[in-house]
Amino acid sequence: MHPNLKPHQPTADEWAELEAAGARQGVPLAVVRSLYSRIIRDPSGCWFVAPVRSDTIFVARRPDIRWGATRMSTYRLTYLIANGPAPLGMVICHRCDVPACVNPAHLFAGTQAENIQDAARKGRLWPQVVARPTHCHRGHEFTPENTVVVPTGRNCLACRRENGRARKARYYQRHRDRINTQKRLARAQRNEASTP
Ligand SMILES: [Zn+2]
Ligand SMILES: [Zn+2]
Repeated sequence: MHPNLKPHQPTADEWAELEAAGARQGVPLAVVRSLYSRIIRDPSGCWFVAPVRSDTIFVARRPDIRWGATRMSTYRLTYLIANGPAPLGMVICHRCDVPACVNPAHLFAGTQAENIQDAARKGRLWPQVVARPTHCHRGHEFTPENTVVVPTGRNCLACRRENGRARKARYYQRHRDRINTQKRLARAQRNEASTP
């Protein structure tokens, strides 16, 4: 991910269009606003959704968005707003093969069978992923030092570290004031203790 990229802010005209399109599909205004104020346009052409309540650019593999009793993948939502509902029995597939991408231009509706064939062609089916000899899904090499075996297969340690760092950063963002106050108090106490 590119930590320097800021979410793209639609112009007034773009907002009007998005809100009208969302309203046509029954998507609440607040959801349209929240989604489209957080979309980061990667130079690769893929779009990613930055998380709520965080300055850290961290993108889940398949982020969801929720309102009321509805829970939807963000890419299904951008597809819905751009194109309307997928035809019955169709699923939304990624032309770019990036599961977190929400760029409607990279999305198409296909049958589940086509989706599975497409996944097989790209080597994305689970047995193929497990059998994939060299790299994790983010492209880190599975060297002995970088691999840990877990009941469900194996984990990439580099990814684990990255996830841990992102989690820590999110925690800090959320509890920044409390953490800083605690640090200040501890420092004050230390200074007091060291003054003769
Ligand atoms: Zn894409
Ligand atoms: Zn990895």
